[in-house]
This record gives sequence, structure tokens and C-alpha cells, in this order.
Amino acid sequence: MIYADHAATTPLCPAALAAMTDCLRTYYGNPSSAHRAGADAARALLRAREDMARALGCTARELFFTAGGTEADNQALATAAAWGAAHGRRHFITSAFEHPAVSRMLDTLETQGFCVTRLSPAPDGMLYPDQVEAALRDDTCCVSVMLANNEIGTIQPLAAISALCRARGVLVHTDAVQAVGHIPIDFVALGVDLLALSAHKFGGPKGAGALCVRRGLAPVSLLHGGGQERGARAGTENLPAIVGMAAALTDAAARLSATHDAVAALRAAFEDGLSALSGVHVLGASSPRVPGITGCCFAGVESETLLLVLDADGICVSAGSACASGALEASPTLRALGVPDPLARGFLRFSLGADNTPADVETILASTRAAVARLRKDKP
Ligand code: PLP
Repeated sequence: MIYADHAATTPLCPAALAAMTDCLRTYYGNPSSAHRAGADAARALLRAREDMARALGCTARELFFTAGGTEADNQALATAAAWGAAHGRRHFITSAFEHPAVSRMLDTLETQGFCVTRLSPAPDGMLYPDQVEAALRDDTCCVSVMLANNEIGTIQPLAAISALCRARGVLVHTDAVQAVGHIPIDFVALGVDLLALSAHKFGGPKGAGALCVRRGLAPVSLLHGGGQERGARAGTENLPAIVGMAAALTDAAARLSATHDAVAALRAAFEDGLSALSGVHVLGASSPRVPGITGCCFAGVESETLLLVLDADGICVSAGSACASGALEASPTLRALGVPDPLARGFLRFSLGADNTPADVETILASTRAAVARLRKDKP
């Protein structure tokens, strides 16, 4: 099997597996318990928080653990909404190609009296700061723009967006789920107030994530119960997953530049090979992108069929984001980019990772070329 769907999820990295195994064996205490088993677990939790904060450029007190990226995004927007309501501001600005973890939460906030402006990215897959600036209003409470798009990988100019929002006293949230572990992240340099991440996109376990919340902003809890995470998230901490996430992030940060270059070289070779095929459009190719993601449309091919043919060859890819696959309508990203429907129907996302090799790329290319040629020939 060749796994080329790292944007859907990544294999657990050895550092995370080792840390989790040790934690499951050793730190079974409840971090809230007063006895020594609890204190040991609380220390492991603190170490994980400090390690992650170091990798993200925030302080340990600004980092709140969640059960994944979706929860972190939801909590970020609930926090911004509460802040907005308290300041008489009920307007959000977002891009039209956010992950459902953001877009659907904003839909929900719309039903609660908030108003949302959704900005279409340019055809190159970028949302430009001047678009955001033109949409800012006196009652804007928050701008929510993803750091890296999950379907085409384009990296959005968050530092510039944050700078102009800060000057207007507007909060900025970024869904950094596809960026953390893949490009350098510095919470302070990005200038955002809220940053969401998810462990399973960078070699950590599923069901663990975090939200960075700028000092001075109070995170709103989505859950009601105990006082864990300083009241920001009730419920006994999933310590093995948190420890695994911290180990994966520390490992990814230590190898970042080598991994980035290696994966980017694999993708360059892949896209070079794709260009030999006619009717292939790589989206966002001229824009800054995270290293592994290639989102492309194959004219005259149905993506679901191509996905199944590649799967039969042992190659795992995705027809858009994992949550959207299976659905026949074009993904929000393709719609936002204005890709015409017939072309959008041939969209496939290849996402390479550090465990892929040049030989994998050759095999994927050979299978894709053969499959596309056959499917086009078979087309009535
Ligand atoms: N945001 C983006 C950009 C994603 O790609 C994903 C996962 O696909 C999420 C949020 C949701 O993260 P999780 O699967 O941890 O809930």
C-alpha cells in the first residue's frame, strides 16, 4: 500500500507511540487527584503543555487542550462570539473555503444573531489582506482565516491579516490544523488571538488537539463539568493522547526543515510527472503551499472512480477533504475558487508525507497516468 492521504490523517510517528505507551503504563493517575499518582500525571500534563508551547511560540498558559481540531475551532469561534457580544460586535469575516469545523460553526452563530461575511479567495487559492480590509466593519468582532487550506495547501497571509485587524481591535482566529508540524509556526509572529491545531495531522494520535488563546482573552468552555484546563474544558484529560501529541509536535519541530524540503521535493517530482498528462490543473500551484498537498483536477474524469481505481492499485488518496468525500457536490474549496463543475468533478487530493519515497511517487504517477487514460477512453 502507498499512503498518499496525509492531509486526512498521518500514521502515528514512533516518538508519539513510545511516549503514549510509556504514559499508558506509567501515568494512569488522574491529574486532578491529590495523591502521588495524580501528581505524576499532572507533571506529565504540564511537561506536554510546556513542550507544545515551546514548539508553537506561545506560553504554556496560553495553550488549552481539546479533543481535536474541530473542537478547537468551535471553541475559538465561541470565544470570539462571546467577546464580540460583550463588546457590541456581532460580525465575523471568514474565507469561503474554510473547513466545516469553522464554516458550520459560523453557520450556527448566524442563527444566534451574528452576521458572517464569506470572502472568496482569488483563483490562485489566496485570500488577500486588502479583501479582508475592505470587509472590516465597526461591528466586526473576529476574522477567521485558515493558515493552510486542507484541499489545495495554499498558505494564507495571516501575519498581514492580523496586523490590520489588530489596528482595528478585531480578533483573529486561524485554523492551523494543516499547517502545524509542516511549516514553522510562531504564535506571536502570526499575531493571531486564537490558533487551532490537531495532533493527527502531524504524526500524533486522533482525538487530541489544542487551542492557543492570546493572554487576556478568556476561552469559553463548550463543556460543562469539572474545572480542568483552568475552566476552559471540563472532563478528565486524555493524558496519553496529549503526551503523544506533544511528542509528535516536538519531533516534527526538530525535523521541520529537513522534512519540509524532502516532502516538497517529492511533490515537485510528482507535479512534474503530472504535467506530462493533458487536462490536469494543479490548484494554487503558483502560491505558497504546505509541502505535501497537491489538489488537482483531471478533466474528463470522475474523481470517485479515479480514487477507486487507484485504491485497487494500493494507492490511498482523497477526493477532497475526508469529511466531504462520498458527497457528490463540489467541495467548498473548489466552489470558492470558482472551478467549473465539470472540472471540479475530477478533483483529487494527493498528500505526501515524510514516509513516502521517490519510488512511491513513480508508482503513483504510473497508476494515475494509466487510470486517467483508461477512464477518459471509457467515457461515453
Ligand atoms: N480544520 C482543517 C483544516 C482540517 O483539515 C481538519 C481535519 O480534516 C479539521 C479542521 C478537523 O480536525 P479534527 O479531525 O482533529 O477534528
